[in-house]
Amino acid sequence: MYILELYRRVYEELLAVPVVPGTKTENEKFAGGKYTTSVEGYIPATGRGIQGATSHHLGQNFSKMFQISVENPEGKDKPKVFANQTSWGISTRSIGVMVMIHSDNKGLVIPPKVSQFQVVVIPVGVTAKTSKEEKENIYESCKSLEKQLKEAGIRTTSDYRENYSPGWKFSNWELKGLPVRLELGPKDIANGSVLAVRRDNGAKVSIKLSEIETKLPELLDDIQKSLFLAAKKKFDTHRVIVDEWKDFVHVLNQKNVILAPWCGVPECEDNIKKESARKDDGEEFEVDEKAPSMGAKSLCTPFEQPKLKPGQKCVLCDKPAVNYTLFGRSY
Ligand SMILES: [Zn+2]
Repeated sequence: MYILELYRRVYEELLAVPVVPGTKTENEKFAGGKYTTSVEGYIPATGRGIQGATSHHLGQNFSKMFQISVENPEGKDKPKVFANQTSWGISTRSIGVMVMIHSDNKGLVIPPKVSQFQVVVIPVGVTAKTSKEEKENIYESCKSLEKQLKEAGIRTTSDYRENYSPGWKFSNWELKGLPVRLELGPKDIANGSVLAVRRDNGAKVSIKLSEIETKLPELLDDIQKSLFLAAKKKFDTHRVIVDEWKDFVHVLNQKNVILAPWCGVPECEDNIKKESARKDDGEEFEVDEKAPSMGAKSLCTPFEQPKLKPGQKCVLCDKPAVNYTLFGRSY
């Protein structure tokens, strides 16, 4: 549970990706282990769930097999006991999840906390008419701003390539997903300010150079929060409670994952998968080419549970529900 919480924080606090922590069902747990916990994410573009990371309680099954024993905590004179083992992992798929959740048609959108560079300084306003002196002044101002930002602990880069126009550079850095670009030209220098442009929503704000060391970190914090909240809103609105089977497939086809009351019986989970595989029922939906007819499987049984109604039955079979479990098409 300790490691799972670290994984939740990696996703939510660094990658700005909301996740639902919970327990895996018997079908989906680490085979041979006692139980498996996971954090589950959601990809809005496809409406599919994705397992973010797992943490397993293996119990003593494997330590018995491999004869891994420890001193008995009740005393050295007592027989040795088999070790309780854990196993946990988070992988490079976390980067893929982050890319799929935040990026747009212009390219990557990288949250400030994990972006290699948080800011790029780009000189603007240099034309064929600009004198050598003026040009040097612009470049010197950019370099001094860059130095100031680096000293303030902001991960900063710059783009002084002369064979590309500012517009080309803007698109290029948007493609790479840098959180903020700073445009500095003759007018800005005269005003003692710089124009900051956000990657996430394109908003432009003029910042006084004298205040840049406090205003820019605030802006980066705001971008980090906005990315998380936008993704959370999508996940929250597409995590739908469905109590009756008649609504299940329809809701699933609307790019949702489903919280359903469930009996916890492994065969019932197999049936949910079979029954929710896409059939040609004439319903219009956007075809996900990689998973055109995939059925829903359980993602996890969330720790945070909606309250079961008294006498609530399983969403599919007639057995009593034991909890709400999250189902969805998934990666
Ligand atoms: Zn059931």
